[in-house]
Amino acid sequence: MQELTHWINGKHVKGTTGRFTDVYNPATGEVQAKVPLASVAELDAAVADAARAQVGWGATNPQRRARVMMKFAALINENMDKLAEAVSREHGKTLPDARGDVQRGLEVVEVCMGAPALLKGEYMNDGGPGIDLFSMRQPLGVVAGITPFNFPAMIPLWKMAPALASGNAMILKPSERCPSTSLLLAELLQQAGLPDGVLQVVNGDKEVVDAILDHEVIQAVGFVGSTPIAQYIYGRAASNGKRAQCFGGAKNHMIIMPDADMDKAADALVGAGFGAAGERCMAISVAVPVGDKTADALIERLVPRIEKLKVGPYTAGEDVDYGPLITKASQDRVKGLITSGVNQGATLVTDGRDFSIQGYENGFFVGPTLFDNVTPEMDIYKEEIFGPVLSQVRAKTYEDALKLTMDNPYGNGTAIFTADGDTARDFASRVNVGMVGINFPIPVPLSYFSFGGWKKSAFGDLNQYGPDAFRFYTKTKTVTARWFSGIKEGGEFAFKAMD
Ligand code: NAD
Repeated sequence: MQELTHWINGKHVKGTTGRFTDVYNPATGEVQAKVPLASVAELDAAVADAARAQVGWGATNPQRRARVMMKFAALINENMDKLAEAVSREHGKTLPDARGDVQRGLEVVEVCMGAPALLKGEYMNDGGPGIDLFSMRQPLGVVAGITPFNFPAMIPLWKMAPALASGNAMILKPSERCPSTSLLLAELLQQAGLPDGVLQVVNGDKEVVDAILDHEVIQAVGFVGSTPIAQYIYGRAASNGKRAQCFGGAKNHMIIMPDADMDKAADALVGAGFGAAGERCMAISVAVPVGDKTADALIERLVPRIEKLKVGPYTAGEDVDYGPLITKASQDRVKGLITSGVNQGATLVTDGRDFSIQGYENGFFVGPTLFDNVTPEMDIYKEEIFGPVLSQVRAKTYEDALKLTMDNPYGNGTAIFTADGDTARDFASRVNVGMVGINFPIPVPLSYFSFGGWKKSAFGDLNQYGPDAFRFYTKTKTVTARWFSGIKEGGEFAFKAMD
């Protein structure tokens, strides 16, 4: 069985603790590798080396750092298939979806090629007699990224690219379920010219995460994962005086107005609800049609589309729509939630529980599941299912649909499908959710903007990638300078008199 490593000081390094966790092939249910779980001592050594490496990297001018990002982007493109295969092998998502995972991360690296422009400070001439003010953005030092299983390329890239382009060193702790892609990305960064030690990939579990949160040298923590862990990480990192931004789970609603193009809405719901087996923080898990006529029209269109979905391993070809869930525990949990929906009175329209593929009977697959007549009291509404389950909650009016979305504790993404500009505009301005789609089911902002949810979907300040990431990974220093030769005779007095 393959033994995975950490990436320390530019080399693959074996774990020394003897503690490992299994990495599964989710399509077959077999263990395909084991990943080492780092100790506090291993983290300490990695951080000490990162701190040393950061001194030179932080002093390297931003344009040179941007050139490393340029080469890195080119190398990601050249290695697209290899990276996508690593994603699919451990995560189980289809190859086109895995290429999308790499691509959305690559786009953030591309923005980081413009780091010098994003790192510029402000300048004020003649703030007083002979006085000029300017501000500069300086790196924080050593920062940490802690990432989830569901985007093994994209989210590590969202963390590492802006942090490194800003002149920091990073300790990256990827998900222990999908660690290989981060190790490959670290190799590519070395080829792109990143000095050894500036990016350390430390694999592990809660033990190393807690050590990161308490580490005196680590200045900031960027986390993405489930809401309870995000809240915990934020609290512990912040109480230790660190900068922290912690992005959590979601329950994204899509409102379908009676005037919407129903075929387009149904296509969007199938892609956004079942794509990647529903394991996306921007998946649509709740459809909210306004009026019974709209709801019936939607069900009529959803069922044949769902029946056509092809579920299978990523090796079965490019026409597979989605793959298995990440673990057996996740498969059991999702099936249990479907049963709870039935028991609590929702109408089960399509049932994915008894789903099996010949030759892959032990894979963690769940078939596409559609519920109608779901109500907010049911567990399938309250929980983030993170599986291929779409719940339809019928709303009487637009105001009811808006209220339902706003009362939900999560606030990552939402969408409205309508032909009416006034309704769409009203929705976008009133809804208390961080990312809004208008006739667009998964409104992940392009990389020149920033990504982040509201309410229980994010804790801390500033969003991920784009201009916000450069603010998060730098601190501002403001200099007030006075040059006496610039003060004309009586100038200072004249200035005071003007006050
Ligand atoms: P997770 O919270 O289980 O794990 C995320 C990271 O935290 C991993 O690196 C893991 O090792 C670590 N971790 C897990 N339990 C821990 C503990 N008790 N103490 C310290 N560290 C711990 O999340 P996941 O299952 O890997 O990912 C899926 C979740 O991530 C979903 O809830 C999804 O919505 C969310 N997500 C959010 C976004 C976003 O930007 N808001 C993006 C992607 C995924």
